[in-house]
Amino acid sequence: MSMKFDIQPASNPTSEKERVAKLVDPGFGRVFTDHMAIVRYNQAKGGWYEAKIEARANFQLDPAGAVLHYAQEIFEGLKAYKRDDGGVNLFRPDANARRFKDSADRMAMAQLPEDVFIEAVEQVVRIDRAWMPGGEGSLYLRPFMIASETFLGVKPSSEYIFAVIASPVGSYFKGGPAPVSIWVSENYTRAAVGGTGAVKCGGNYAASLRAQAEAIQHGCDQVVFLDAIERRYVEELGGMNVFFVFDDGSLSTPPLGTILPGITRDSIIALAKDAGKTVREEPYSLDQWRKDAASGKLKEAFACGTAAVISPIGKVRSVSGDFEISGGAAGPVAMGLRKQLVDIQYGRTNDPHNWIKKV
Ligand code: PMP
Repeated sequence: MSMKFDIQPASNPTSEKERVAKLVDPGFGRVFTDHMAIVRYNQAKGGWYEAKIEARANFQLDPAGAVLHYAQEIFEGLKAYKRDDGGVNLFRPDANARRFKDSADRMAMAQLPEDVFIEAVEQVVRIDRAWMPGGEGSLYLRPFMIASETFLGVKPSSEYIFAVIASPVGSYFKGGPAPVSIWVSENYTRAAVGGTGAVKCGGNYAASLRAQAEAIQHGCDQVVFLDAIERRYVEELGGMNVFFVFDDGSLSTPPLGTILPGITRDSIIALAKDAGKTVREEPYSLDQWRKDAASGKLKEAFACGTAAVISPIGKVRSVSGDFEISGGAAGPVAMGLRKQLVDIQYGRTNDPHNWIKKV
């Protein structure tokens, strides 16, 4: 199904002077562009209707709006990158569209056709192209959907609002990626078998905040969760997947199931395999991680996701003791994969898997 977007440019957009000032050091997630995409859904009206590009503005939502009570909400995160020739690249938007559909399915929400998702993202990039930061910056796109029916009964909403907003972001790590420290949460888990760990619903993040606060209290940047059954196996960070690099050159990463199927994770597996490396998707325990770091069998560990691409993990802290990986420094495999991915995203190299969609 395709939809024609009604484009209504903002009548009072940000002045060029103000925009340029905001783009100097945008940080992450606090500066927004002038427009948004909106598509509405109403079961009684026959499904999706009213696709619009319009000025970014507050939503009107009744206090009994379903999302405010039962958290029927999903989202995505992807970036647009400015090429040296001035054009714009999206990285694997089809994969985000597919994951969004899977999230909607798990949360019993209306499923937005993948081509409408991609069209909405592209339209926002087109109309707010002037907001693309240069250099290592990018335009972070946040598609999301909320349940908007006015009803307090616990059931799937019959109305939804899908929207895409955009936020220019700077380079995640100024001066290159610094190794991060992580706190192993042994009190809190993120996802159970049969739960919602594999989809991107807001509730997963709400439930992770207490564990992330604990990580910060222990002087760490990020939290890493263990599996909810045995509390032994490493799953993922609050907002990133994780990889391990061994002395025989192989890599391993936790298997899909209760973790978010990261698009960066999937891309790294493909690039590592292209380079002839062995990549195992298998459970890896905290105990084994500690032993392998001590023996030198483990050479590197890194986290990966859209926001920071690849962040080397330098230090691991937990109730049962702390350890370092390769002296806490960034390793060559993480840095090599990072460069390869970033070069594809910015269009500086060829794109063997057709991941780039030019806008
Ligand atoms: N795990 C979680 C819990 C996340 O929120 C994210 C960010 N979307 C990731 C992993 C990485 O996914 P991606 O590579 O698609 O950004």
